[in-house]
Amino acid sequence: MPRIFERIAILGVGLIGASIAHAAREGSAAGTIALFDVDTAVRQRARELDLGEVFEDAASTVADADLVVLAVPVGAMGAAIEAAGPSLKSGAIVTDVGSVKGAVINAVGAHLPAHALFIPGHPIAGTERSGPDAGFASLFKGRWHILTPLVDARAEYAAALDKLAAFWRALGANVEHMDAARHDVVLAVTSHLPHLIAFNIVAMAEDLESVTESEVVKYSASGFRDFTRIAASDPTMWRDVFLNNREAVLEVLGRFSEDLAALQRAIRWSDGQQLYDLFDRARRMRREVIEAGQDTPAPNWGREN
Ligand code: NAP
Repeated sequence: MPRIFERIAILGVGLIGASIAHAAREGSAAGTIALFDVDTAVRQRARELDLGEVFEDAASTVADADLVVLAVPVGAMGAAIEAAGPSLKSGAIVTDVGSVKGAVINAVGAHLPAHALFIPGHPIAGTERSGPDAGFASLFKGRWHILTPLVDARAEYAAALDKLAAFWRALGANVEHMDAARHDVVLAVTSHLPHLIAFNIVAMAEDLESVTESEVVKYSASGFRDFTRIAASDPTMWRDVFLNNREAVLEVLGRFSEDLAALQRAIRWSDGQQLYDLFDRARRMRREVIEAGQDTPAPNWGREN
């Protein structure tokens, strides 16, 4: 595999930051890897896991880097680039992995030196786990990586875009370009709303007085447990996603609530045809997801029970 960058710096060594380090090292996409995390225990763990050279501050981490990856929660992107910005080398490429793009572009733009080249990005890959131990090299394999390039007429910007796309391809991802506003609406539908629904269902089940918690857990294989996996995701990350993709999420949530009310009405009026038609449409979507290679065709995701 070709070396794409001589030196990369990763700020934030959680699930995504650690996975980038593992994957870049395994595939030799980067010569050296410098890392920093605000959490002392995480820095210590990153050393133990031998993820790269771990620094004590953001400025020294990025000093000689050709590529800087911001892998912190969406609400911390501004602080991360503020600390690193003055030390970026001339022409350094800066990217991020945030689940929201519009708000991150504004936050990073406020602190980015003019000589740096910022290309926002988002890997459509993840798990419900967080922290450095959750990272693994194959996380991005066969997954989409969405780049939302800025309008920047500099020739270096176009070259940087090609280089960054090559880096993500070297990590195993399929790279796609998208407008940032479009990204935020699409992800509100495919990721943010499903997470909100899962958080809500799991919290509601816990609150229900008529069903004891042990019964909810005991019979969870009837559907509930699939929601609990999504709802086990990191609360900081998801708080930041909803605070920073407010408009798109509220728009999609409005539509969802209307459709839910229509379902409620169909149940009340025993409109079996409406229920059947909607469930049938939804089932076809599952087939499309499998055909697109985004999930396993095995029943129950290949689980034995
Ligand atoms: P994570 O496991 O919680 O790790 C984030 C790390 O960044 C934490 O150790 C955090 O420390 C640290 N941090 C916070 N502020 C920092 C700063 N200013 N400088 C350096 N480090 C800082 O999070 P993750 O799941 O890897 O997510 C990282 C980013 O990827 C988020 O923007 C998220 O939206 C995006 N993303 C996540 C997934 C997913 O499935 N998890 C998928 C795609 C994209 P503290 O905990 O002490 O704050």
